[in-house]
Amino acid sequence: MKKLIGPFSQILTMENLSLSGSLSDDQLKIITNGGVIIEGEKIIKTGHFNDLRKEVSDIIEISSSKVLLPGFIDSHTHICYSGDRSSEFSKRNSGIPYQKILEEGGGIHNTMKATAEATDDELINSTLSRLDRHFSEGVTTCEIKSGYGSTIENELRLLRIINKIKKIHHSDVIPTCLAAHVKPMDFESNEVYLDSIINDVIPHLRKENLSNRIDIFTEEKAFSVDESTRYLNKLSKMFDITVHANQFSSGAVKVGVDVGARSVDHLEIINDEEIEYLSRSDTSGVILPGCSIGLGLPFAPIRKLLDNNCKISIATDWNPGSAPMGDLLTQCSMLSSFEKLSSAEIFSSITFRAAYSLGLSDRGKISPGMIADFITFDSSDYREILYNQGKMKPSLKCKRGKIYN
Ligand SMILES: [Zn+2]
Repeated sequence: MKKLIGPFSQILTMENLSLSGSLSDDQLKIITNGGVIIEGEKIIKTGHFNDLRKEVSDIIEISSSKVLLPGFIDSHTHICYSGDRSSEFSKRNSGIPYQKILEEGGGIHNTMKATAEATDDELINSTLSRLDRHFSEGVTTCEIKSGYGSTIENELRLLRIINKIKKIHHSDVIPTCLAAHVKPMDFESNEVYLDSIINDVIPHLRKENLSNRIDIFTEEKAFSVDESTRYLNKLSKMFDITVHANQFSSGAVKVGVDVGARSVDHLEIINDEEIEYLSRSDTSGVILPGCSIGLGLPFAPIRKLLDNNCKISIATDWNPGSAPMGDLLTQCSMLSSFEKLSSAEIFSSITFRAAYSLGLSDRGKISPGMIADFITFDSSDYREILYNQGKMKPSLKCKRGKIYN
C-alpha cells in the first residue's frame, strides 16, 4: 500500500553528488514543499507534495515546518561493552600517560575484564540502550565491532550477542569482527594470537553467519604493518576488510588499500604520499572526530583529504575509552567549524558516503528504490541543523518505512 508523507519544507535528497572530493552547498538537490511516497520498506517517488497527493490517497500529513534527510549511518562503533572508564578519562586529563594506565591493568584491559564479567543480558541491554539513543539522534544504520573479548571464546560470544541485538533492534546493525583489536594478556605473541583467530574464530563467522567484515587495529602497540598484511591477505578474498589505520603513526593506509579494504578508519597521522595513494583507490577514509575530542588530539585532516579527492565519511568510534560521547551530529558540527566543511560535505559523509564505506548501495539518499530510512528536524532551513551543534534532535524517524516519533 502506497503512502505519501509530507509536506516537508525541504527534502535534502543527497542525489547527484559525487562519491569523492569536496562539495559545496549549492550542489545539494533540495525539493521544497516536498513529499515522499513509500511502499513497504522502500521509497517509490519524491516530488512536490501537491503534485504527489493527486496520485496517492493514503496521506500522512505533516503540520509543522520540517527538513527531511536520509537517516544517518554510523560506520564505526564499539558499543558492545560493559564497564566505565571515567576514572581513566579523569587520570588522562590530569596528565597521567595512557601507557602507564595500561601497564597498571587499566585502559582497554579494564573494558575486557568488565565485559567478560557481564552477563549476556547485561551486555544486550546496555548495547540496546546505546542503540536507542543513537536512533533518537538520527542514526538508522549502525556498525558494531566486537573486540573486547579477553579470550577467543569471549570474542565469539560478543559476535553472537551483536547478532542477537541485530535481530531485536529496529536499526540496521552491521556486525564486524575486530578480534584483532589488541592481543589478550594470555597469548604469548601477536603471531600466535592472529593464528588462533584464523583457526578458531573465522570458521564460525561463516558457519553461524556472524559477520562478513574483518577489522584489525594496525599500530605499533597493537599489530604491526607486517602482521596486519599477513593476516588480511589470508582473509581479504572471503571478507570485506576495514582497518584501524594511521591513528598514531603512518603505514596502515597502504595495507588497507593494497588488500582492497572498504575503508581505512582514523587517519589522524597521514602524509601526502598516503593521501595520494588513498585518493587513487576505491577505499573510503573514515574520520572519527569523537576520538580526537575524547583524547584531546588534533582532528584528522579531513579538509585536505576532501580537497585531494578522497572518498571520506565520518563516524563516531563510540567506545568507552577514547570516544565516550557517541553523538554523531554534535561531533560533525564541531568538525565542520574546525575543519571548514560545508553542510553538503558533512551530510554526505554520514549518509551515502558512509553507506559506501560499508559496501551498501541501498541507503543514504532520498531516491526511488532506496530503503525508506529518513529523519526530520523541526526547521525550515537545513543549515540550522549543524548550526545548533547537536542540540537540535530529529523529530521524526522513519526506518524501513515504519515511522517513529
Ligand atoms: Zn575504533
